[in-house]
Amino acid sequence: MNVPPSFASPFAPTAPTSPATAGSGAAARIPGQRLLHSPGPTPIPDEVLSAMHRQSMDLADPRLDRIIEACETGLLALLDAPGCDVYQYAANGHGAWEATIANLVAPGRAVLVPGTGHFSESWAIQTEALDRKVVRVPWRPGYPIDPQAVEDALRADTAGEISAVFVVHTDTASSVSNDLGAIRAAIDAAGHPALMVVDVVASLGAAPYSMRALRADVTIGASQKGLMLPAGLAFVAVGPRAEAVARANPTPRFYWDWRRRRDAIGYRKFCGTPPQQMLMGLEASLALLFREGVGQVLARHARLAGAVHAAVAVWREGGAIDFFCKVPPARSVSVTTISVAEGADPEAIRSLARERFQVAAAGGLGPLAGKAFRIGHLGDQNEATILGALGGIEAALRALRIPVGPGAAAAVAALGAAQRT
Ligand SMILES: *Cc1c(COP(=O)(O)O)cnc(C)c1O
Repeated sequence: MNVPPSFASPFAPTAPTSPATAGSGAAARIPGQRLLHSPGPTPIPDEVLSAMHRQSMDLADPRLDRIIEACETGLLALLDAPGCDVYQYAANGHGAWEATIANLVAPGRAVLVPGTGHFSESWAIQTEALDRKVVRVPWRPGYPIDPQAVEDALRADTAGEISAVFVVHTDTASSVSNDLGAIRAAIDAAGHPALMVVDVVASLGAAPYSMRALRADVTIGASQKGLMLPAGLAFVAVGPRAEAVARANPTPRFYWDWRRRRDAIGYRKFCGTPPQQMLMGLEASLALLFREGVGQVLARHARLAGAVHAAVAVWREGGAIDFFCKVPPARSVSVTTISVAEGADPEAIRSLARERFQVAAAGGLGPLAGKAFRIGHLGDQNEATILGALGGIEAALRALRIPVGPGAAAAVAALGAAQRT
């Protein structure tokens, strides 16, 4: 049998990753660390990696049930979702999107999707692919959702076709964060019975969120962003109104069905074998968040995002790059999308930053592909990782002769001022 060359060694021959590969005889070692500043997947803390580095249990082991229960309790606490149920899936965020569509929306009925960028549009397209109608509130590039437009669209639904409003809290592509309280108020003002469904995949564990205060009916999350895990675990928190709508929905469904997942037995909760190591990791990551204190976690994200914004505000003075999000209070604490003027290539910036300066940033998505790059600043980040990222990216910009002001120095000043006693 021929073994493909990449399987001949347990380590890929040309992909240096971290000092851990030193001595493997395969990868060239990079000294120090490569900083990961993608807004997902985000860096995985050592505590989470070691929690996952454990042997599987037999499916009847009561310790497995305890881990699943700890994850459920922890997620509901983090979401501030008392009285809700949480259903977890061995899936990425798109799986939780599909679960929500399958359970809440009968074919022929509609959802309202206010445009936030690439992610709201991807969710809308997935909804249409499953034979449900989508009413769009048009995306305004660089701006958050206009709550008045949401209210108007709901008032215009005189036939009562719309079952739910699908809202993306932070659109990871545009780096715009939306005012969820204003959207709740718009649904209330329209007097429309639509359910409020919120995607917090990119904001949970970074920006404040309370399912209770918002009276949100469903919240959707995934593991690989603020929760600091690999991709592969997604969840929905479901309130009583949404449970009732799901129960009355006749759509055929099996794997995604919330009714099947209401069960004390782990094997049935997951509609099959639970992804044990992901759950071990989630238990550890929730413990990290609660030990630091959720308030402190959110304050850290705000402070680090402030440093990134301070840097971009100075870089943009050179005239070649700019914030994609035009409204400062709507700039996300998780990620910053940076538009690049014609003539400068964001992929060249990213590739030089990664390969030469050991800073891995993300690219532009959807309509921003080739026109922007993104700096992720959520999850397991601190002052040093943020300053390292800004320094490396600025070095790449200068190496490519893209005119920018001294932004990294501005970030140092902002962090120093934030700490002044
Ligand atoms: C990343 C992301 C998703 C999709 O998650 P996948 O795990 O990549 O399927 C959905 N919504 C938002 C806002 C995201 O940032």
